[in-house]
Amino acid sequence: MKKIVRMAGMLLAFAFASCSQQPQTLSIIPVPLKAELQGGAFVVNEQTQVWIDAPEADKNILQEYLASSSLKLAVATEAPASNAIVLKQVAELPGVASAEGYVLTATKKGVEIQAKTGAGLFYGVQTLLQMAADGNKVALGTITDEPRFEYRGMMLDVSRHFYGLDFVKKQIDAMAYYKLNRLHIHLTDAAGWRIEIKKYPRLTNFAAWRTGKDWKEWWNGDRKYVEEGSEDAVGGYFTQDQCREIVEYAKQHYITVIPEIEMPSHSEEVTTAYPELSCTHVPYKQADFCVGNEKTFEFLENVLLEVMEIFPSEYIHVGGDEASKQSWKTCPLCQARMKKEGLKDVDELQSYLITRMEKFLNKHGRNLLGWDEILEGGLAPNATVMSWRGTEGGLKAIESGHRAIMSPGEFCYFDSYQDAPHTQPEAIGGYLPLSKVYSYNPIPETFTPEQAALMYGVQANLWAEYIPTKEHMEYMIYPRILALSEVAWSAVANKNYDEFHGRALKAIDDLRAKGYNTFDLKNEVGNRPGADKPVENLGIGKKVTYAEGTKYYSGYTAGGDDALVNGIRGGWTYGDKLWQGFLKGVDVTIDLEKETPIKEVNADFMQICGPGVFMPKEVIVSVSNDGKEFTELAKIEHQVVKDDEVTFKTFGWTGETTARYVRYQASHDNNFGGFLFVDEIVIK
Ligand SMILES: [Zn+2]
Repeated sequence: MKKIVRMAGMLLAFAFASCSQQPQTLSIIPVPLKAELQGGAFVVNEQTQVWIDAPEADKNILQEYLASSSLKLAVATEAPASNAIVLKQVAELPGVASAEGYVLTATKKGVEIQAKTGAGLFYGVQTLLQMAADGNKVALGTITDEPRFEYRGMMLDVSRHFYGLDFVKKQIDAMAYYKLNRLHIHLTDAAGWRIEIKKYPRLTNFAAWRTGKDWKEWWNGDRKYVEEGSEDAVGGYFTQDQCREIVEYAKQHYITVIPEIEMPSHSEEVTTAYPELSCTHVPYKQADFCVGNEKTFEFLENVLLEVMEIFPSEYIHVGGDEASKQSWKTCPLCQARMKKEGLKDVDELQSYLITRMEKFLNKHGRNLLGWDEILEGGLAPNATVMSWRGTEGGLKAIESGHRAIMSPGEFCYFDSYQDAPHTQPEAIGGYLPLSKVYSYNPIPETFTPEQAALMYGVQANLWAEYIPTKEHMEYMIYPRILALSEVAWSAVANKNYDEFHGRALKAIDDLRAKGYNTFDLKNEVGNRPGADKPVENLGIGKKVTYAEGTKYYSGYTAGGDDALVNGIRGGWTYGDKLWQGFLKGVDVTIDLEKETPIKEVNADFMQICGPGVFMPKEVIVSVSNDGKEFTELAKIEHQVVKDDEVTFKTFGWTGETTARYVRYQASHDNNFGGFLFVDEIVIK
């Protein structure tokens, strides 16, 4: 009886398939390596069955995944002759080098996916699901696909704001759909310890709870920790069982979870719960562990033993970033350690800790992963570097024969604004639109094939200081993670932003239908006017002289002396290499080469108080014909007000005059100090 029903279903499927003769354009993210389509489609219907020929463990995962997928495929009891989705693990797969690659062939009889591993079959399934998202139609033809990088990651910061189990699982669903395979969880930081450690209960009954509803309130407030269960306690943590649940759920999606336990810094919550682990033994005093004290190693090793028990990942991330190292300089124990080990400075003391932790991890069959500061004072022998402060750290690690994972702030920090700041919820700063994420290529052209092979992959980081809700977290992730997925998976030759943009719009509809909160790409404002193409003005290409002692800061040159007269405005962030930064006021003179009629002189400034970027207190515009005697045209007083906004303001003069030299001066408000950023002196 059942057989007859299935036969009827098969005929129906053929009928559908033959109706659809239009060649389809694939809308798959990340774009596959190769797609040869013939036109027409196989249509998955209620009778379509799935048949999996793979080792038991993978077979179970894939069966369950397909049954609960949008296609709701039932499993056949015997190999179906047609109207089937067949998944077949094979020993050899021509044209595919990676273990995660696959070949998907769709004919009128059905779809067959071949791969060398369960992961490969799983990625073939993701492609199938994305193809079938449009009316269950699978375009006829063959897709041959494999990832560019083995490591394709996303990091979630659950310390600054704690998001529970369901949120993490939901992100795993989307990661899998876009073929990402590493979830790095930032489990510990000053804002709260987020993993149960049986041996150290104070970590979760105290260090996981703080005052202050959101991070900003806490950070700008008293920065205190409180007892679990007390009235004002904000925070939480994953129990070990919940962590196991995350690991298992991720495994069902061929994703590895990498836990991060911060050391030697970003650990105020630990050194307050266990003050004896700091140099001063005083709570709320320092973020760094005491590296001279054996108790620190005992603590870290005990914590890592429990962590390794839960997380089977190849890597354990130990942080390693932003240690102040100050207390080590005066701590007797740290000084004694340096003397005993022959360490010449505190950088080497940090390196001692990292190297020692690496030995410990290696002894337990794991590898150490850390932020690029672990390079300082010498890199531990087998360590892998995660490069965040630009790309140099990763490239340096590779040059010395280590593996690297790239997550440079400029391209991979999803806590940056993704559109014009005035249209967005408050962010930490920066400007990282979808197109910029997409443009990233982790492998420089100068790399040899051997060096390229050490480039393990790429990762997006979502730090959560300014992200107090789950919806907001998703808003920052989607759709930027789709661009990252294509950076990580797709061949460079197949990348094309305009074309990707169209697919991303479709994907956003799909994500929203599934309940994800996404950025509104359709109504993206884009970069600041003038940042992309020159603003015509009389100063372009003319000589600029900086008054003595007022030269721009070396970290923000915007390309050098001609930056203020190249016609290019700055974008939404001072970090975009278009804004010139000044620490000691602005005082520049532009030589127009001959007496010229002038009706306008102005310049833009930006303000974002968090990183210390302020508006000027006073601006003076003056002109001269001999370059010596200047006549003041305007003096503008401005009251600098500290706020949470990112603001832009024009200061200048309009009128009528004739002059050869134009001088533009701007001064700091000494109550705030910090930087002045100017993009262009516009003369009309
Ligand atoms: Zn110490």
